[in-house]
Amino acid sequence: MLEDKKKDQAKIVYPEALITTDQIEVSRIVEKEILIETNPFEMAKKQIDIVAEKIGLDPNIREYLKRVERSLIVSIPIMMDNGSLKIFEGYRVHHSTVRGPGKGGIRYSPDVYLDEIKALATWMTFKCSLLNLPLGGAKGGVCVDPRKLSEGELERLTRRYTAEIINVIGPDIDIPAPDINTGPQIMAWIMDTYSMHKGRAIPGVVTGKPIEIGGSVGRETATGMGLFYVLEALCNKINIDLKTQNIVVQGFGNVGGNIANILHEKGCNIIAVSDITGGLYAKSGLNIKELLEWRDRNNYLKDFQNKNYKFITNEDILTIKCDILIPAAIENQITQSNAYNINCKIILEGANGPTTPKADGILKKRGIIVVPDILANAGGVCVSYFEYIQDIHSYFWNLNRINQELENILVEAFEDVYSLSKEKFVTLRTAAYMIAILKLAKAIELRGIFP
Ligand code: GLU
Repeated sequence: MLEDKKKDQAKIVYPEALITTDQIEVSRIVEKEILIETNPFEMAKKQIDIVAEKIGLDPNIREYLKRVERSLIVSIPIMMDNGSLKIFEGYRVHHSTVRGPGKGGIRYSPDVYLDEIKALATWMTFKCSLLNLPLGGAKGGVCVDPRKLSEGELERLTRRYTAEIINVIGPDIDIPAPDINTGPQIMAWIMDTYSMHKGRAIPGVVTGKPIEIGGSVGRETATGMGLFYVLEALCNKINIDLKTQNIVVQGFGNVGGNIANILHEKGCNIIAVSDITGGLYAKSGLNIKELLEWRDRNNYLKDFQNKNYKFITNEDILTIKCDILIPAAIENQITQSNAYNINCKIILEGANGPTTPKADGILKKRGIIVVPDILANAGGVCVSYFEYIQDIHSYFWNLNRINQELENILVEAFEDVYSLSKEKFVTLRTAAYMIAILKLAKAIELRGIFP
């Protein structure tokens, strides 16, 4: 998969003697389009351009936002259990610390690459700005399939990665958190490694930690809860009874699994779910609890048996007829090649960057409502912010307070985005970006450019 991405981005070599200049020009345009369509950072920059035009953003600020503040690439040598040495590559990127310390997860995936992390860091900046959290945007990743490592190898990898990025993280510099394939245990190792280097316990260096070492209640389910609050707010606005909706969820990790579970508990009909091994479909609805138990025991949905469920591919899941589609896996899932086949009324983006700008245009023409990632999935970073505050104050809230404050912040952000989209006749994504970018631009203007 990574090789394909790299190939897509590779320079096309033109045998000049065989083709005309016009053809070269056309090829270059096609090449650029492929790049924008498949490279998440090109996609993020395109989204900035679209909004910059709409709000007449100062061209200097537009260029400023299209760059990341700093990118760190590190080598992570690990002594494997069999005595061999393996070297992994890791990244930590700060897109912006204008509004506060960097904030964003760390993902472990064999497909991770720098431009992906830069895009994810950029989206974190906008997410925090949209929600008015006093934080910037950052992201990290390690190019590894953690399922292929033993527990000891995973711990050594995490600790060495932390040591390599130690100078660019910290409670008032940049605060990592979980993302794809990382969770509380990995955050605990990061917190411990950082604290050992500083000579004292510093829980505020990461969020998404286990509760016993300064984590927050409600953090693990926060992204799912946030998706629910935003979806509920939208359904109230457009007079849809959520309980009667048929729902499809792509991705069955922390985000997909939790939102499927929350909606199932609220009485909604989840007709299909999938993970990287494929998906399951049943028109009359799936038993999500049973599937979650299976996933927790076997890692994947693969081999789950129920004669009433039909196996489907991970691509097919996106085009199933339903009311609400929740892409909660990775970037680049809804593209110009499948956007015409999407068969739903609402797309709620659980993943970061699941819809490309080209697909966005097609969905808009087709009248499909897209609730953008920086709003829909912002519950995770919002409760991370609560965890960060609780660590600073050494005073911990209960689950009621967490969920109530989460709902308040998300519903307020949704109301702002929804009214702006109506007022300016733009999509929810454009409205969300308009709000986030204007706030950020104001902060840049007020602080000025150093020196
Ligand atoms: N990884 C999550 C996201 O993409 C959460 C980040 C955080 O909590 O800092 O929003």
